[in-house]
Amino acid sequence: MRKKIAIIGSGIAGLTLANLLKKNPNFDFLLFEKEDFLNLEEGYGIQLSINSISILNKIGFDQLNENEKYCPAKLDFYSINYEKICDLDLSIFNTPEKKYTTLRRSILISFLKKNLSTSSITFGKKVKNVDHKENKINIFFTDGTTESADYLVVSDGIFSETKSIIEKKTFKPIFLGALAIRTEIQNTNISHLNDNNISLMMGSNAHLVLYPINQKKELNLVCIIRRDIEYPDSIKEILENTILKTNKNLINFFKGNLKSWPIYVSSKPIKSIHKNVFYIGDSFYTFSPTLAQGASQAIESANEISELINKEYSDISGQYFKHRKYKTSLISKRSKFNYFAFHISNPILKILRNFFLKNLVKNKSFIQSYIGKIYR
Ligand SMILES: Cc1cc2nc3c(=O)[nH]c(=O)nc-3n(C[C@H](O)[C@H](O)[C@H](O)COP(=O)(O)OP(=O)(O)OC[C@H]3O[C@@H](n4cnc5c(N)ncnc54)[C@H](O)[C@@H]3O)c2cc1C
Repeated sequence: MRKKIAIIGSGIAGLTLANLLKKNPNFDFLLFEKEDFLNLEEGYGIQLSINSISILNKIGFDQLNENEKYCPAKLDFYSINYEKICDLDLSIFNTPEKKYTTLRRSILISFLKKNLSTSSITFGKKVKNVDHKENKINIFFTDGTTESADYLVVSDGIFSETKSIIEKKTFKPIFLGALAIRTEIQNTNISHLNDNNISLMMGSNAHLVLYPINQKKELNLVCIIRRDIEYPDSIKEILENTILKTNKNLINFFKGNLKSWPIYVSSKPIKSIHKNVFYIGDSFYTFSPTLAQGASQAIESANEISELINKEYSDISGQYFKHRKYKTSLISKRSKFNYFAFHISNPILKILRNFFLKNLVKNKSFIQSYIGKIYR
């Protein structure tokens, strides 16, 4: 009999899983999304490393219009004053089929949505309760409807209410003590930087990441600033009191529409109390954004679950959790270290950091171990 899989949340993780499951005729899947439509907000850029590109290629990402994406070859490190420190060659991990890619989140979501039938996503659905009878999961929604499934995959993002409902325990992400400020700029405004590459500018308690998101070289800028307040009154004031104090010219980056939000991270990943319930993407673990692995890990976790379900593995839950926990811990440690290193304010420590950075980016075995293990 065909197995039924219910997926809660149609973000990057949920949609990727649906696309992967669609390839197997032994499975029926249904996606339940709390919003009334998919959020195709323009602008928001996303970086995808080769670990996720190889998975997306299985569902036709290599056919996506070349104009809609960009493949930066290098990551350039700068001080906040535009002084170039060194660069990391990202292309060493590329193959002709899979390359480090940047694009708009909306393009990725549209691509993931394109091959799914309209009836496979039900909008306006939120889980109220679940119960477990024999090998089935019964899902009760807030609108009074119910659904039964063999497997329940939760991909409802960072604040995963569904996880708290299922595990009967409150899970709250932790405020990192930092804000993200995002905007989009034109390449004419960045004469000090190389618009072919990803630029990472490191300042005291703040860093900026800038990268092209398509062949037109529209640029996505994200600025991460340490701040204790989750919802400050004025973003402009924060910029003036931090990075703009060191480099007034950066004001040119922030003339467009600014969006800001507090950054949260997970405390630790959990395995469900139910053997046929799995968490993927940010609902499994939300990383700090300093290794740009959130979306790639959402895709990777969707692929792991899809493969284990396909193989009808006897202990999917145990197998999935073991591998995901290992990968999560690896990325989380590196993300935390990057967060510290990108924000150093002590001048002597800055000199030391830059000295080590210049040497380490050229050290192939270090790069293979620090980044290669993650991109595998
Ligand atoms: C500043 C910043 C920069 C980032 N940059 C990058 C980057 O460059 N590269 C990268 O890889 N990642 C990046 N990320 C992270 C990345 O965006 C996320 O990790 C990724 O989107 C997670 O995907 P997801 O599907 O798990 O969750 P989401 O994309 O959040 O999707 C969750 C979905 O579930 C729905 N939902 C929520 N609650 C419910 C509910 N109760 N019931 C039903 N549906 C529900 C939501 O509406 C949504 O559609 C960044 C994050 C930040 C904060």
